Parts: sequence; structure tokens; C-alpha cells
Amino acid sequence: MAASLRLRGAASGLRYWSRRQQPAAASLTAVCSRSMASKTPVGFIGLGNMGNPMAKNLMKHGYPLVIYDVFPDACKEFQDAGEQVVSSPADVAEKADRIITMLPTSNNAIEAYSGANGILKKVKKGSLLIDSSTIDPTVSKQLAKEVEKMGAVFMDAPVSGGVGAARSGNLTFMVGGMEDEFAAAQELLGCMGSNVVYCGAVGTGQAAKICNNMLLAISMIGTAEAMNLGIRLGLDPKLLAKILNMSSGRCWSSDTYNPVPGVMDGVPSANNYQGGFGTTLMAKDLGLAQDSATSTKSPIPLGSQAHQIYRVMCAKGYSKKDFSSVFQFLREEETF
Ligand code: NAD
Repeated sequence: MAASLRLRGAASGLRYWSRRQQPAAASLTAVCSRSMASKTPVGFIGLGNMGNPMAKNLMKHGYPLVIYDVFPDACKEFQDAGEQVVSSPADVAEKADRIITMLPTSNNAIEAYSGANGILKKVKKGSLLIDSSTIDPTVSKQLAKEVEKMGAVFMDAPVSGGVGAARSGNLTFMVGGMEDEFAAAQELLGCMGSNVVYCGAVGTGQAAKICNNMLLAISMIGTAEAMNLGIRLGLDPKLLAKILNMSSGRCWSSDTYNPVPGVMDGVPSANNYQGGFGTTLMAKDLGLAQDSATSTKSPIPLGSQAHQIYRVMCAKGYSKKDFSSVFQFLREEETF
């Protein structure tokens, strides 16, 4: 299996790592003392739904943490566990030369890097800064330039997989940045994810992530529409889901994350759409897809429509619910 992955990666020009292929210590690129200093403290900024379990997986792998979140309560359990909590991103940069950021939006990332007490105020030369937030690729490129001026390295490494995968350490990381630094990033990202994929220059990780989430939004709306229509035509929802999942309509939204309450256990639709991936975050990601489509003159008629649907949902009180609540939204909007 590992051999076939290597071959596939080589043939496609992509570098791909799965947990079966631990990078050999000797192959880690020693660009500076930082990348060889395995168990020196790692900075972590943004301990929310995703950052919290990701940071815990670094702890499980023996990395001491230096952490910061604008919301002090988010740091409490780490403080109780003996990790260092500091009062700004700049202080994180003073104490750690490898830092991961996991923040909601482009503006939050800009603030954490370039703000008055941002990382760039105290970043050490040679530091490796990995941003796992889903943000605008042009912002990633801008941050990379600012970081480079300070003699440090920036990589974008957004994730796919959600809170469940963050807890189990099975995220997929899509990594953009200098290829020579990929091995050093893998050392940390491999503690939190089962797939770490090198995509190309800075910003390409975000590009992959944005495309994935646009497709996810479209397929979730499609699944919700089909399920709602079938139910109104008199089909039992569990039976309909079973048929879709053995037919050509099958997708992740139908077989792993079905949006109809009662069809599956352990998904947000079974829990009044609590937890999971918020509608606001999906609307944000679709906005990033829209901006990227405009700047590259790419037609995305379904992506644009999905963006509008998720924006309307936010305006109608769905913002904190999981994005699969589009099924409930369609049920309530009979004339939509
Ligand atoms: P979240 O809102 O739960 O957590 C973000 C954390 O960042 C919060 O604790 C907040 O207080 C903190 N924060 C905000 N601005 C800050 C700043 N300037 N400095 C320090 N801390 C700051 O968000 P999340 O669900 O963990 O998502 C984080 C990122 O991951 C987003 O970009 C999201 O699109 C992406 N993502 C989320 C999921 C998911 O299922 N939740 C899945 C894949 C990707």
C-alpha cells in the first residue's frame, strides 16, 4: 500500500504522506536547528472546536505547548494540564519556533500575525509558522511575504475532516509552501492527521480546501433536496438513504453525514444539528470560493447558488447549526 501511494504521488507530481509512511528522521530537512528540535515547545493559537482537539493530539505525542486564544476560557483546560498559557501571539512567538494557528477567518489570521501584539512582533529567525485556518489564499500569500521578511517560514495547511477527525487525529492536511519545508511540517501535522498532502506553493493548500468545501456544500444541498423530495413522495427516509447509498447518487453527505434526522446516529442531524461544521463557517468558505472564482474568471453557478442559500440560512437563525441543517431549512421553506 505504502509503495503504491509513493508511486501515485511520484506520478502525479504531488507529495503525499499517510500515517503508514512515517517520515524517516534522517529525511527531515535540516534547514535550521528548529526542524530537528523535535520535542521543543510548539506554539498553538486558536483553541476552538478544531484547535482544542488538534492541540491535545500534539500533547499526546509529547510536545509541550505554548498557547494563546483571545477567549481565555479556551485555554483553561490546557493550563490545568500544565501547558504554558501566554497573553498574546507575540509571546507565543517569543517562546516557540514552531507555531500552528487555527482561527476562524482571514481577518483573525491577519490580527494574529500582523496585529499590534501579533506573531511578527517577536518571531525568531528560522521559525516555522503553519496556518491551518481556512482563509483567502491571497491572504496566505501576503502573510507568507511578511513572514519571509522576518527570516521565518510560512505554510498554509488547512484541514478537511471536521471535529470528529480532529479528535481522532485523522484530519487531512492540504499543505502549501516551500517544498523543502514539507518534511518539517509533516512532523507536527502527522500527529494530528492521517493524510498530509503537499499541494505546491503558498496558497495552494487553501485552494484545494476551498474547492473541496464548495463541492461539499453543493452535494449537501443536493442530498437534502433529494431526501426532502423523496419523503414528500411517500418514501421512508432510511430506505431512501439506503437506496441512494447503493446507487449513483451516493456521496459523503448521503452515506457518512446524512442531513435527515433519524437516518444515522452520531451525526449532527441526530442531535438537532448541534456541533459539527457551522453554517456560518460554510457560508464563509463559499464566500472565499466566490472571490476566487471572480478573480480567476471561473464559472461556479452552483457554488454561487450554494453561497446564497447558506447566507440566507445565516440570516434566518441557522448560523450556529451544523451546515447539514439545510435539510431543515428546506423543510421550513416550502416555497423556496
Ligand atoms: P472556532 O470558532 O470554534 O475556534 C476558533 C478559535 O480561535 C476560538 O477559540 C477563538 O476565540 C479563537 N480566536 C479568534 N480570533 C483569534 C485571534 N486573533 N487570536 C487568538 N485566538 C483567536 O472555529 P473552528 O471550528 O475551530 O474553525 C477554525 C478554522 O478551521 C476555520 O477557519 C474553519 O473554517 C476551519 N475548519 C473547521 C472545521 C469544523 O468542522 N469546525 C472543519 C474544517 C476546517
